[in-house]
Amino acid sequence: MINLLSEQIKDSKEPLQIVGRESKLTNTNNKLSIADYQGIVSYQASELVITVKAGTSLQELQQVLASKNQMLSFEPPDYGNSSIGGTYACALSGSAQAFRGALRDFVLGIKIINGEGNILSFGGQMMKNVAGYDVSRLLVGSKGSLAVIAEISFKVLPQVTEATYSIEMLEEDAIILMNKWAGTALPLSACAYYQGRFYYRLFGKHDKQQAEEVDNKIWQTLNPFQTTEKEFLWRASVPSTTKKIANTVAIDCCGNRRWIVSEHKPDLAYVDKWQKGLAISKSVKHPAQMKIEQGLKKVFDPHGVYCP
Ligand SMILES: Cc1cc2nc3c(=O)[nH]c(=O)nc-3n(C[C@H](O)[C@H](O)[C@H](O)COP(=O)(O)OP(=O)(O)OC[C@H]3O[C@@H](n4cnc5c(N)ncnc54)[C@H](O)[C@@H]3O)c2cc1C
Repeated sequence: MINLLSEQIKDSKEPLQIVGRESKLTNTNNKLSIADYQGIVSYQASELVITVKAGTSLQELQQVLASKNQMLSFEPPDYGNSSIGGTYACALSGSAQAFRGALRDFVLGIKIINGEGNILSFGGQMMKNVAGYDVSRLLVGSKGSLAVIAEISFKVLPQVTEATYSIEMLEEDAIILMNKWAGTALPLSACAYYQGRFYYRLFGKHDKQQAEEVDNKIWQTLNPFQTTEKEFLWRASVPSTTKKIANTVAIDCCGNRRWIVSEHKPDLAYVDKWQKGLAISKSVKHPAQMKIEQGLKKVFDPHGVYCP
């Protein structure tokens, strides 16, 4: 099938919109769907490495890993039917990001199809494998604009025991506390603020905390975070110590991620509109960064085959 995709790209006369399982994008024209390119290519549990086709659902991938008591440590959000390729293309990591690392930190290698229909491989199945430009991590977050992500090799980790605790608190106090704790030796794996409560998660087994112990499932409410269709939801990426922002409905990733409900775009540098059906917004607008993006486009997709 990868050869068929490559032919389709070579023959294309119009820009193609790459789609995975369409949890965000729907009803686009001239789709290049990767959803059927699915399955596990190889899984060496003893080596903590898995190679997977991009159309594979997150659910299937996580089930395969769980059968060996392993996991994707970056906690990708599952919007019901998300593909691992779409998750990679959107650089989606969950609540543990500040403590365990983001998706890009676990990518070992990729196979892609560039805008000229060439099938190319970068990286490998080992952390040490990278020489020259680190393309397998560079394309994380490319949002379908540079290349088709066909296969990805990830470093995986053993599942861990964790417990979640919660304390009622004011938002401004929670922001101070999560930043203070992040600088200590506490074995934190997540910190958040939601509906008037500060939530924190600890690795391993612990004596009873002074806070109330709650179900670990709270992290699935925060990640993926969603509101009703009528509301305008924005995801802002900010320095963790940023003070209280108006209309915030949840704080995740130890203060770095703020979910905001607002009719108007919040006046912040890095904001994405989290709404179904809309093209994924490209929030990066700094001139230096735009220059790099344009240079990458020329290299990976010189004829503009993929929608920007
Ligand atoms: C309501 C809603 C709003 C969302 N809003 C955003 C948002 O604003 N920003 C954001 O980053 N994420 C957003 N997401 C999450 C994200 O779009 C998808 O859930 C995630 O990408 C899962 O993959 P998918 O297969 O459903 O991707 P799709 O929805 O099919 O595609 C999402 C993006 O990934 C690209 N893509 C998918 N597969 C590949 C591939 N194999 N190779 C190259 N590119 C690929 C597409 O071109 C597109 O840009 C949103 C999700 C939902 C449900």
